[in-house]
Amino acid sequence: MLFNYRYVNHSIEGLQVYLDHLVKEVWCKASGPFSLDLLHPELKVIVEDISNDDSITKDYLDGPIRQIYELFRDQLTPIQRVQVSAWYDQNNDIEALCAGDPSKQPATYSDIRAISADLEAALKNFCKSLFTDVIHLSAVTSRIGEIEAHYRAFVTENGEGKCPYCGCGDIKGVHHSRREAYDHFLPKGIYPFNSVNFHNLAPMCHECNSTYKLLKDPTRHLDPISRKTGGTRRKAFCSYATVASGITVNVTLTTRDITKLQPNEINLQLTARGREEEVEAWKDVFGIEERYKAKLCGKNDGMAWLQQIVEESLNGDLTSDQLLALALRAADRSPYDSANFLKGPFLIACQRARII
Ligand SMILES: [Zn+2]
Repeated sequence: MLFNYRYVNHSIEGLQVYLDHLVKEVWCKASGPFSLDLLHPELKVIVEDISNDDSITKDYLDGPIRQIYELFRDQLTPIQRVQVSAWYDQNNDIEALCAGDPSKQPATYSDIRAISADLEAALKNFCKSLFTDVIHLSAVTSRIGEIEAHYRAFVTENGEGKCPYCGCGDIKGVHHSRREAYDHFLPKGIYPFNSVNFHNLAPMCHECNSTYKLLKDPTRHLDPISRKTGGTRRKAFCSYATVASGITVNVTLTTRDITKLQPNEINLQLTARGREEEVEAWKDVFGIEERYKAKLCGKNDGMAWLQQIVEESLNGDLTSDQLLALALRAADRSPYDSANFLKGPFLIACQRARII
């Protein structure tokens, strides 16, 4: 990714705190009959409130929590419980997983299935519903706040207004009444336990989220046979890393016939010293090369950038070199304004190809 988000602490993280306790202190230590008294005190009140609310017809918490408790109690050996507890910690250390830390081995639902298919099905439904349903219930929002409030706090702190994963898409901010969807960087359909971990959640532009990333796992190579996610581990840029990705963009053109520029006539070098694996994962997950090349060929992007320099040098007082210098200064100052981070390298490539 081109720049990092700054993590925002918010009361909504309380849901993860409840889950921490539920998995490690209740399920992994299941013994004897289930009682709501075993739950985190705030979660216990939430479960009771929901049970007493006739307007909620689906049992999101009480039944599933009991069912999973009984599966742990009746089907899991002590060693398996220790394993699940460790998986819980590892699946929630998002930064370590993105860094490919070999001492942190994340668990997928396939690993849970190897222990118990019933547990896999129950956990998958439960963890998904925490994000899709439970987080929106008034019994929950009245205690930890709404996700919309988290979003407002998030975009107040992260006010760039651009998507850091592509640098081009807009991110709705404090002046919008709607918000972007949160992406689960490690997909919630693959990994248990981190569906409401906000270190694994970040707003992403619609194009990145719904057209390119989809269900891809940034921390796994594609399987060489199925060509689907699930191959060996790889490093990926972390949304909330405190160290910049350091990506640089260089463009070269293999044609001077710029009016009919085609993607295959553009060489795009996206590099970050020492972060080669992360760059490859980023390009793969977000379709970066395809999208950037298409933008450079676009009538209202690359072609318009070029046209502006050409026309102003013919009709104004400045030479094309002077106009290019001005454009590069603007690109340095505001790299994410109008895709300046691409515009600068593209115009330099045009100059090298003697197009301007
Ligand atoms: Zn994007």
